[in-house]
Amino acid sequence: LLDAVRVSKHYGSHEVLKEVSLQVASGEVVCIIGPSGAGKSTFLRCINRLEIPDAGEVWVDGQAMGFEERDGKLYELTERRLSKQRASTGMVFQHFNLFPHLTVLGNVMEGPVRVQKRAAKVVEAEARAVLERVGLGDKIDSYPSQLSGGQRQRVAIARAVAMKPLFLLFDEPTSALDPELVGEVLTVMAGLAADGMTMLVVTHEMGFAREVADRVVFMADGGIVEQGTVDQVLLNPREPRTQRFLERVL
Ligand code: ATP
Ligand code: MG
Repeated sequence: LLDAVRVSKHYGSHEVLKEVSLQVASGEVVCIIGPSGAGKSTFLRCINRLEIPDAGEVWVDGQAMGFEERDGKLYELTERRLSKQRASTGMVFQHFNLFPHLTVLGNVMEGPVRVQKRAAKVVEAEARAVLERVGLGDKIDSYPSQLSGGQRQRVAIARAVAMKPLFLLFDEPTSALDPELVGEVLTVMAGLAADGMTMLVVTHEMGFAREVADRVVFMADGGIVEQGTVDQVLLNPREPRTQRFLERVL
């Protein structure tokens, strides 16, 4: 479903991603762990082209991100078309990024109506159902400022899901939350995973990774050091770097 091929990115002389390749199959939950500065966020942002990689390609469902094929040739997408394509790769950030002037329902409807140009009536029914699913059925008319961090993050997840993405990217969705609010967000994410949503999750929550991940990827220094099942990477890491990292965080 997702195929990142030798993605590279540098800022100035700093090589942040060094030919990172990763494939994610439909229905798979992949957790990315690793130290600060490893390039985890940059990698997610290169996947949906919030950052433009210097080299490499990202294929989503057989389509090259950022390009369209015409007469057998690839042409770069305009920003407008890119936004549309990006909607197929829902992203949830550490800091929610909700629209403060829109209600909860408005936040969830914005993308499907404005970007995807779908009928407001249909979208509203779907948005209500998604909000129900993340446990916010009674907060539909609230504004983000009236919600707790955990509730805001659940709105952000609902907003991503409402776009009917092919997969979801999460960048440390719980690390800005008070500890007592982390559980409610992880529970929603585990529910999506159980429903078969394909997810690529950057997280420091080892408990979540252990329980939900089909595969764990350890990144350091702009590259993938090792990857495998929970058993292989979290419980029996082969690489010394992974071992040292896990000793610190577990
Ligand atoms: P963290 O766990 O702290 O979120 P990370 O693994 O997500 O770390 P990135 O945010 O991808 O790491 O950053 C990787 C490196 O790239 C860091 O050294 C960072 O300083 C650098 N970097 C990221 N974005 C930029 C930018 N826009 N301009 C310059 N350097 C950047
Ligand atoms: Mg990061």
